Amino acid sequence: MQQIMIIEDDPAIRDELTLLLENEGYHPLPIVDFTNIAEQAAENRPDLILLDIGLPKQDGFSLCAGLRRSVNVPIIFVTSRDSSLDEIRALSLGGDDYITKPYNIPVLLARIKAALRRNGRNSETEIIETNEMRLNLAKGTISYGTKTILLTRNELQIMACLMSRPCEIISRTELIETLWDNQIYIDDNTLSVNVTRLRSKLEELGLREIIKTRRGMGYQL
Ligand code: CA
Repeated sequence: MQQIMIIEDDPAIRDELTLLLENEGYHPLPIVDFTNIAEQAAENRPDLILLDIGLPKQDGFSLCAGLRRSVNVPIIFVTSRDSSLDEIRALSLGGDDYITKPYNIPVLLARIKAALRRNGRNSETEIIETNEMRLNLAKGTISYGTKTILLTRNELQIMACLMSRPCEIISRTELIETLWDNQIYIDDNTLSVNVTRLRSKLEELGLREIIKTRRGMGYQL
């Protein structure tokens, strides 16, 4: 049974999510102690995390960074904050998706399912090598020269698309479909945010301007 950790301090919403996930056949892991959340996640090894932003000890934004270091699973922000700045911030910090409260239950469940499915695909052992870069889909890393860095799930998917078809232009629509399965829920800007973050990580490896933007068409290695 897939385990979903619920990090939400409002007891009514927490209980509602717990019941909802149980009814859908998941094993919910509601958090009640808001200290050492990253440790609790590492210990329980959930398959996915639902993360609120307004929390008692530490907000969801800073928690997300800590969680990213301890577990490599999809993180979906579920929050009543609905500004696009918050959304961009959540995705830049390594969140995989962002849903605003009051959430629409079928949409929330569809997104959980999609995130779990993408994660399942990513755990297959596979290595893609192109232009002296080495992408390890199982470990979620990219290496170049002697350096290796961790990528988030979305960054990994983008890189996998580009590296498996080097020199080809990959359209934004194709990337959005690959990353989010159902593009109707996704704002076009979300892809740009992910690509920007990926580019700055690649620069850390010494790979400058490796992903080219082809205006009106898409991206290309
Ligand atoms: Ca809250």
